[in-house]
This record gives sequence, C-alpha cells and structure tokens, in this order.
Amino acid sequence: MRVGVVGGGIIGLAVGAELLRRGADVTVYDPAPDGTGGAWHVAAGMLAPGGESVFEFPQLERLLRASNELWPEFAAGLGDVGYDDAGTLGVALTADDVAEMAREWKHQKLSPLTGSQLRDREPALSPRIRAGAYSPAERQVDPRRVVRSLRRQLNGRIRQRAVDDVSALDDETIVVAAGCGTADLTGLPIRPVKGQVLRLRGEPGLLTHVLDGAADGRHVYLVPRADGEVVVGATQEERTDHQPTAGGVHDLLRAALDLVPGLAEHELTEITVGHRPGTPDNAPIIGHVKDNVFVAAGHHRNGVLLTPITARLVADLVLTGTADPIIDDFTPGRFGCA
Ligand SMILES: Cc1cc2nc3c(=O)[nH]c(=O)nc-3n(C[C@H](O)[C@H](O)[C@H](O)COP(=O)(O)OP(=O)(O)OC[C@H]3O[C@@H](n4cnc5c(N)ncnc54)[C@H](O)[C@@H]3O)c2cc1C
Repeated sequence: MRVGVVGGGIIGLAVGAELLRRGADVTVYDPAPDGTGGAWHVAAGMLAPGGESVFEFPQLERLLRASNELWPEFAAGLGDVGYDDAGTLGVALTADDVAEMAREWKHQKLSPLTGSQLRDREPALSPRIRAGAYSPAERQVDPRRVVRSLRRQLNGRIRQRAVDDVSALDDETIVVAAGCGTADLTGLPIRPVKGQVLRLRGEPGLLTHVLDGAADGRHVYLVPRADGEVVVGATQEERTDHQPTAGGVHDLLRAALDLVPGLAEHELTEITVGHRPGTPDNAPIIGHVKDNVFVAAGHHRNGVLLTPITARLVADLVLTGTADPIIDDFTPGRFGCA
C-alpha cells in the first residue's frame, strides 16, 4: 500500500515509521528541511499522563496512560533518545501553592512529601519549598532526539515540500499529521496555543528528577537532561504570534530560580516559542476523515506522550480498517467530520 504522510513532526514521523515497519510504501511530506517548524522542537518531553488538565476527561486520561505504558518499548526501538525513568517530583513553594498542587497529587493518589524529604531526594531544591510528592510513572524523553531517530528510520522517504491540498495526492492513502497546519488541510477545528520555553545549561547532575512546580502561583516545570541541559517551561497563551516576551521569560525564570536557586549560575542558551495544536476539547483527533484521508493531529499539550499509541492506532486503522476501541472517543466525527 502507498501511504503519504502530510507533516514530518513527531506524530507524522512516528506514524510513517510504524507503517514502513509493517510493509507500507511510505512518503512523508514536510516543508522544513529538518522539521524544526514543529511544536516538538520546542517541547520539553515530559511524559506526564496525570496532569490536572485531564481531571474532567477520563477517556483522555486512559489514552495518556495507555501511551505512557508503550513508551519503554517504543524508546528501546529508537536507540538513545534520552528516555529517563527517574520520575517526577511535584513541588510547591507557599501554602497556597501546596493547596493547589495537592489537588493534582490527590487525584493521582501520590503520597505527600515534606520539604526535607524532597531535599533528601533532590538537594538543589530551595529550603523554602514546603511540600511535594513523587510520581514514578511520570518520565521524560528528549523530543529532538526522538525526531532525529525517526528521520533516520525514514531515510530517503521524506520529501521537502508543503502539501496545500490533499486531493493532489489522490493516488495514495493519506494521513494528515500536520499539527496546527491540519486545520487548513482538513477543516478540522485545530488552533495554535502558544508556549514559551527556555533552555539552560550547566554542570550535569544539579537535578536528577523532572520537577513539576508552583512558586507563588507561577507554574513551571524543569526537565534536566543527562548532559547538563535543563528545559524550563512553559507559558500557555491563546495567541498565534512567534515572539518571546519579557513577561513570559521573567515568569519562567523567576519560578525556576525560586524552586532551584543554583540555576542562577546556568547559561541561558535558548528562548523558543512553539504552538501546541489544540482542539475544542483539547484531546487529539485520530481517525478516518473521508475517502482515502485519515488524520492524526490536535495532540495539544501531550503529543510527545501520545506518539507511540497514535502511531499504533493509525497504522492499524490504515492497514486493517479497524483499531482498538480506545480510539472511539477521539475520532473526527465528534466535530461533525467523517
Ligand atoms: C511549549 C510546548 C511544550 C510542550 N511540552 C510537551 C511535553 O512536555 N510533553 C508532551 O507530550 N508534549 C508537549 N508539547 C506538545 C507537543 O509538542 C505537540 O503535541 C506535538 O509536537 C504535536 O506533534 P505533531 O507532529 O502533530 O505537530 P508538530 O510537532 O507541530 O509538527 C507538525 C509538522 O507538520 C508540518 N506541516 C504543517 N503544515 C504542513 C503542510 N501543509 N504540509 C506538510 N507539512 C506540514 C510542520 O512543518 C511540522 O513539521 C509541547 C508543546 C509546546 C508548544
């Protein structure tokens, strides 16, 4: 079967690689030479299925958890992509921060930790931090390394071009996986949600866990890589522009330094802006659209986490016409398409 995948971001590449592995003749179309136009290039790579945003949507939480379980095997098939299972420490600075974060910890049934218990695990944490919790199931991966590995698997099958109209590819089965670009190609309701992210660099080993924190009402996460990079994210703004802002950068740095004062000595190496592909219910759209066209888009805040399950579901659907019923809550049909 000939399959054209429109979009060479993390989702399109993973879908393409899975179809190729199962014997399809795959071509991926993307205008950016190395794909760096995608949200994955900015994303921190937290694999966090229990975030507060899914409290009200149990089917989405189920999908996130199912994909999280696929990650160890998926990462093993990609080589060294910085998959790290040290886990996540939730941390809260003030009494108000504790009250807010405790809702999430309770929902996830995590045991609370005191400030000194937290510092036993992570000595660089500020002595002002009041409380926290440890989540062993919330891990991390480096999305840039994942994309590099997937591009290698698809070597020779990535065409550097934008697709403006899917009917131009009518001799192939098509999977539209173009992130925010999917709206123009399919008419599906996908909107860009701006996020600013910083990258710091210092001596490796200052932090060993992902930190998911609140500091004086400012939310921040810190994702430490083995090579000394620390990713600090992220703002969430209903905007389409690409400008980093003084306020956004200030809020992220302020919260990061309140939680881990030793980061003040790190070099600030990158300020990046990306757009999460959001949908009206902030869950992904995966399924058949019409004729020879399928879609895998709208993964919003969790596209890296959802990569393995999306690849598997789309490959099943395209090659066999059916997929695990877990897909049923995420089809384009819920927005009146297909
Ligand atoms: C600030 C920020 C932080 C994030 N942090 C995390 C995180 O910690 N964990 C997590 O799981 N997720 C995170 N995400 C979300 C994640 O990055 C996205 O959900 C994911 O990248 C979506 O993957 P995608 O391939 O659908 O889209 P993208 O990664 O955006 O890629 C889309 C690709 O489609 C291409 N394209 C667009 N239009 C066309 C066209 N017409 N023709 C051909 N190609 C086209 C683009 O060039 C691009 O390469 C974050 C996102 C942001 C912005």
